[in-house]
Amino acid sequence: MPDLTEFLTFRDLVQIAILWVIVYGVLRYLHGTIAGAFLQTVGLAMVIIIILAMQLFTIFGLNTLKTIVQYFVIFAFFSIVIVFQPELRHGLTRLGHSPFARFMRRTLSKRDERGASIADEIMKAARRFSKNRVGSMIVIEREVSLQPYVDRAVRLDASVKAELLDTIFTTPTLLHDGAVILRGDRLEGAGAVLPLTQNPDIPKRYGTRHRAAIGITEESDAVVVVTSEETGIVSFVWNGTLHPQEDTVKAEDMLNRLIAGEESVE
Ligand code: ATP
Ligand code: MG
Repeated sequence: MPDLTEFLTFRDLVQIAILWVIVYGVLRYLHGTIAGAFLQTVGLAMVIIIILAMQLFTIFGLNTLKTIVQYFVIFAFFSIVIVFQPELRHGLTRLGHSPFARFMRRTLSKRDERGASIADEIMKAARRFSKNRVGSMIVIEREVSLQPYVDRAVRLDASVKAELLDTIFTTPTLLHDGAVILRGDRLEGAGAVLPLTQNPDIPKRYGTRHRAAIGITEESDAVVVVTSEETGIVSFVWNGTLHPQEDTVKAEDMLNRLIAGEESVE
């Protein structure tokens, strides 16, 4: 008769605790996704069943069954990775956006300096747009990925230069309609079509350009610099709210801080 006191040893408990921490961590990052819902219900129950089954097979010496289950676990692992590839990628992206990852990136990179030169290029262009009454919309990605919008835009992957922004919005090219999207120090795409805000409190005087600028900041933490073709006013948009800038020179410092991820800049 096998010794049932060995059913759950201290070592088993430690292993289960480690596994629990890993599973909890994965669930935290997949929270709200289909993979998260799946893992929370079926997945978690299966992990517990498999651990218990393996213990029983070991105790009773059922080595064939144990081997089969081991193969099944490997098969299940790869199936989950393949089936939930989009969710896992999403989860990993969020992991990359965690406060710790952000801290490491800030520490390791010269992001703030880069932000300063980007704010400089953007404001140089914005001042010219304002003076010449050129409509423009520059979307700056922060933590939340704008990849779906980049995918549907015209891909550029160029450095952020005032002259390029000027060329895109001033000349009657195919790219002047819609928004440009910046990520880090790259201009990823132009001609991007963004979702319009449905907020009924936005004054009627704002047309689709300003509504699209507000719309994208309701869906993400992006910052948008928009200039009005009608009035020449430069506005910064974040968190679903529009902030017209009277002094475009002072505004540069504010934009720099917004790019660096600060929320309360006023
Ligand atoms: P302005 O003050 O410059 O006139 P507005 O807020 O009044 O801006 P419209 O006059 O409707 O807005 O501006 C139309 C322009 O806005 C379009 O030519 C296009 O470039 C841009 N635009 C409109 N809708 C979108 C959208 N969904 N996504 C991106 N750009 C858009
Ligand atoms: Mg208009």
